[in-house]
Amino acid sequence: MSTHRPRILIIYTGGTIGMIENPHTHTLQPFDFTHLIDNVPKVRKLNYEIDNISFNPPIDSSDMSPLHWVQIAKAIESNYRAYDGFVVLHGTDTMAYTASALSFMLENLSKPVIITGSQLPIGEVRTDGEENLITALQIAASVTPTGAPMVQEVAILFENYLWRGNRSTKMSADNFNAFKSNNYPPLARIGLGIHFDEDALYRLVEHRPLRTHYIMDPSVMFIDLFPGLTEATLRYQLDAPGIKGIVLKTYGAGNAPTGAWFTDAIKEAIDKGIVVVNVTQCVNGGVHKRYLSGDTLAATGAVSGHDITAEAAITKMMYLFGLGLSPEEIRDHFDHSICGEITI
Ligand code: ASP
Repeated sequence: MSTHRPRILIIYTGGTIGMIENPHTHTLQPFDFTHLIDNVPKVRKLNYEIDNISFNPPIDSSDMSPLHWVQIAKAIESNYRAYDGFVVLHGTDTMAYTASALSFMLENLSKPVIITGSQLPIGEVRTDGEENLITALQIAASVTPTGAPMVQEVAILFENYLWRGNRSTKMSADNFNAFKSNNYPPLARIGLGIHFDEDALYRLVEHRPLRTHYIMDPSVMFIDLFPGLTEATLRYQLDAPGIKGIVLKTYGAGNAPTGAWFTDAIKEAIDKGIVVVNVTQCVNGGVHKRYLSGDTLAATGAVSGHDITAEAAITKMMYLFGLGLSPEEIRDHFDHSICGEITI
């Protein structure tokens, strides 16, 4: 029998999960994760070796930026050999962006990076935070029958499901099951036990050492279509200074206005070297060749994002521009999966 005690590193960034009521003032304040076991005594029963690193100060995830992603990636890289898995505690609001960004930044990842948080502070009686934290730790420590890490990718654990990080979206501001990956099955279902779907889990074709990428170029933006969008507003956005890439959120299967006021403006931007990626506003499904309105957009040079989430599309662009690739090379990468973010 193995006597190995799983070693897990918790990286606490902030968010609702980290709040606890001060017994004297009755106000919510960030929880002290250096005293994790004292505050969540059940964790002791896991019999893991757990260490933690905290953002100082912890942040609301609305304040998350590429510099914070670098902080998390550095913490993982510098502790990669010493730990079996990593649990990142994070606010729910931008969790799907962080999960997507880390999936690109941590090339050749072969250990679990499990991101979780909660809807209610860990200090509240009905908190979902305690269960999410414990389940995330268990998933980070899970191994296959041959002893390899069960999860070898960035994933989001929330309530009853484990989702691929770069496929996830925050779906609810209230429900405990707040996340979903609309175009990819859950990596695990959490009920009485943790049931992994081994066919859904990401596996590297060839095992290579971890390679961390730290440059995430923020010269990107979303443009959201809506009936009533004017040429002036569209051109104003396309002319935003310094922008190199645009994730265009289109209708249905990737459809957009067919008038010259729209297609000429998009084509001019692309001809100037801006990369335009077409993603659907729908929560489920992707961009398909089905309607003339999709074809006219494709004819401008906008590339299909296939079934990618908006969160993964914008962070993939930041990553690819960060690598210093040309617009042509970046467009080509949107036709390929880097780490399981699209179905081709
Ligand atoms: N505003 C919080 C955050 O994202 C919400 C949460 O943690 O659920 O940091």
